[in-house]
Amino acid sequence: MQNRTMQDRTIQNIEDLLTQNKRSVHKFGGTSMANFEAMQRSAQVVLPITGPLVIVVSAAATVTRALMHLSHHNTPLQEQAQLIQDISRIHQDILAKLVHPEVIQPAVDALLREVKQRHAALQIERTLAEVDALLSIGERLSSLVFSQVLVELGRDAVWFDVRDVMKTSNHHGEAEPLLSEIKARAETSLSPLSEQKIVVTQGYIGATLEGATTTLGKESSDYSAALLAEALRADYFAIWTDIPGVFTTDPKITAAARPIQTISMQNALALTEAGAKVLHPRTMLPALRAGLAFFVGSSQGAGGGTWVLSQREDKEKKAEVVAISLRQEQILLSFDHSPANLIKGRVSAHIMAYLDEAEIKPAFVYADHLSTEILLDDSLREFRRESILTAEHSQNLQVLAPISTEMNLQLIAIIGNRLDQHEGLRKILAAFIKHYKIRVLSFGMSSHTLFMLVHETLAVAKELVVQLQQELFE
Ligand code: ADP
Ligand code: MG
Repeated sequence: MQNRTMQDRTIQNIEDLLTQNKRSVHKFGGTSMANFEAMQRSAQVVLPITGPLVIVVSAAATVTRALMHLSHHNTPLQEQAQLIQDISRIHQDILAKLVHPEVIQPAVDALLREVKQRHAALQIERTLAEVDALLSIGERLSSLVFSQVLVELGRDAVWFDVRDVMKTSNHHGEAEPLLSEIKARAETSLSPLSEQKIVVTQGYIGATLEGATTTLGKESSDYSAALLAEALRADYFAIWTDIPGVFTTDPKITAAARPIQTISMQNALALTEAGAKVLHPRTMLPALRAGLAFFVGSSQGAGGGTWVLSQREDKEKKAEVVAISLRQEQILLSFDHSPANLIKGRVSAHIMAYLDEAEIKPAFVYADHLSTEILLDDSLREFRRESILTAEHSQNLQVLAPISTEMNLQLIAIIGNRLDQHEGLRKILAAFIKHYKIRVLSFGMSSHTLFMLVHETLAVAKELVVQLQQELFE
């Protein structure tokens, strides 16, 4: 298999690769599915492809968020009605531009009815299994519509329910893929089908062996594509999004951000773990296992793009900064183990056990005899419609040890190689420490990451990123 897959030395121009009869998986994100025009542009990307092709799509932009908000009791009724209408309108607008909407209209209508039914059921009882079932409708809709777009462009495209292949644990909301089950099913159903027709299927969603619908975590369609590429023994996979590749920093923060032509798997992992939204961090895991390089490019016609390389980075590499990321809304909890509390014994173990039970994964932990410091990532608060640290969690944790809570911190991460040896970076940091409130400053053990937790507003943190971008890349 190592010889078949796309290795770093065989990496080439993506346009050439598309026409070489390779087996490939191509993923399109929400903005690439947002409306008829975006779908048309996305279709142009895959039209030249000659080999067996599986297309993985996300829900149309804003639909997953709307479905998530619909699942919550704390969303006002009027807003709920509006959200249902928005979801319907997005898809009906695309259908209105198709030549033969009647082919998929009944199926689309059935899915829109399912939104209403599942929403009503959730109002009575909110279980995570029902939330997943509701969320899955976004991808089921977009994939259906996109398959028809390809058919109308003269392609033999077929809709495929990924839940027949993407088998997972029953951990709703963040299900674990069952790799051998996925492989076996991909070999018997998806793989032969992709040799006959262009397969259009869903990212993000899966199903348990018993058939309950699950989801793989927010924004996990990239991960789905990587898992399917691994299971199908694809030669390569590609992630098509709204910007041409991985940049030195989020281009939405500064126009000075520059595209990166190639990035190592480790640095891509470090960058996305630190919060760069461009890829789901787990995307790199199947790619590493299968030794698969993959491409990140624009579905909207902008050229360029980034290859994420499959080989491990050379340890002797020189010190260099590759990219900078920013994640907002971080919460720092400091537990005070004053002598009175120490009597209770292993306070930090109790805190960790509580968080584990509550399924809260700390982004960072520091513990010594006097205190335990825990960083929580609350950047999904708006999407989830509640903070990761609910009032109930605060109360329960407070019983274990007195807490002080610092909200609205911003996490900046600098990603690269041998950062501990980087002269320029040291100088910049010295200046930053003087001028900004840096709450935590730490190198990751691998020396691929330098974390800077700042007690500044988001606007100031963005300024800091812009300044870093200028000083490190210009
Ligand atoms: P999709 O819906 O296609 O999955 P996402 O919104 O999840 O797209 O990811 C693409 C976005 O990631 C870009 O629009 C950009 O704002 C953001 N982003 C954050 N950091 C980076 C980075 N280092 N390089 C490129 N894009 C980044
Ligand atoms: Mg994404």
